[in-house]
Amino acid sequence: MQDIPIPEIGERDILVKVKAAGICHSDAHYRAGISPVHPVPLTLGHEVAGSVEKIGTLVTSIKINDRVALHYNISCGDCYHCSTGNDQFCEKVLMLGHYTNGGYAEYISVPARNAIHLPDEIPFEQGATLMCASATAFHALRKSRLKGGERVAIFGVGGLGQSAVQLAKALGAIEVYAVDINEEKLNLAKQYGAIPVNSKKVDAVDEIKKRTHGKGVDVAVEMIGLQQTMKQAVHVAGVLGRVVIVGLSNKPLMVDTYNELIGNEVELIGSNDHHLQELPLLVEMARKRVLDISHIVTKTVPLDADVVNQVLDDLEKFSGDVRTVILPATNEPAV
Ligand SMILES: [Zn+2]
Ligand SMILES: [Zn+2]
Repeated sequence: MQDIPIPEIGERDILVKVKAAGICHSDAHYRAGISPVHPVPLTLGHEVAGSVEKIGTLVTSIKINDRVALHYNISCGDCYHCSTGNDQFCEKVLMLGHYTNGGYAEYISVPARNAIHLPDEIPFEQGATLMCASATAFHALRKSRLKGGERVAIFGVGGLGQSAVQLAKALGAIEVYAVDINEEKLNLAKQYGAIPVNSKKVDAVDEIKKRTHGKGVDVAVEMIGLQQTMKQAVHVAGVLGRVVIVGLSNKPLMVDTYNELIGNEVELIGSNDHHLQELPLLVEMARKRVLDISHIVTKTVPLDADVVNQVLDDLEKFSGDVRTVILPATNEPAV
């Protein structure tokens, strides 16, 4: 825990008083150096929401006191990838809490274009979480080109998967299979309209094939990052199926191209992060309760290094299966 100056803002930036900062599994990787942060020392935190305290002289889209959630990729806005709507590939991209100071702090400064208006109906802690897990799930489904009337299987219904189930329904899927081994998560997915498949009890591929009369699904999304579930996602895809890989793994995926891809024209698609332009749509879906993430944020903590480190320790051990959000305002003396 360190005292640092309140960040300066440039003419196109805003200063945000942090009201909520999500503690993500990626943050545990960053702290451990698995995916190193630089430059160090650096403040972690890429899931941030708050209220606007100051605006730069050229900022017109944001007013002081606006409620905002922050897009974590700070991009140049001018390069080929930025100007074609794929800002996550910007050559100069700086991720909050990874390559520039993030939101485990009382204040953060970002370019105004990174601020997404957060409606009053969405609490700050949910707004923060929308910017990472839900946004990644939304992007993956957009990559899958899911159409109304299609069937979907989601492998892994943690934070990303619960959003994916609801968003797949919203995009018109007639059946969404939720595959997991955790009964509690499967029950929540069921409440959101999924057909639960407990792969501890049944073979997920056989079960989904049986329920779809041998056809399999049109879209399979892998959100765990295990070789086994990636294979299952490939095997459960039917004719013209699209398999989207979101889960990170350092092991290769072996695919029998003739039998598993070519024969049925199955597509294997990588999905990475999300775009700035997807976030206002996502926030609107949360405001309209098409996407309900009220059950995803399950714990809040103050901005305290020991407490935050404990949460990261738990994430490393996979022991805490909760989504924890830092609420820095709880440190302030009551007035
Ligand atoms: Zn995250
Ligand atoms: Zn760029």
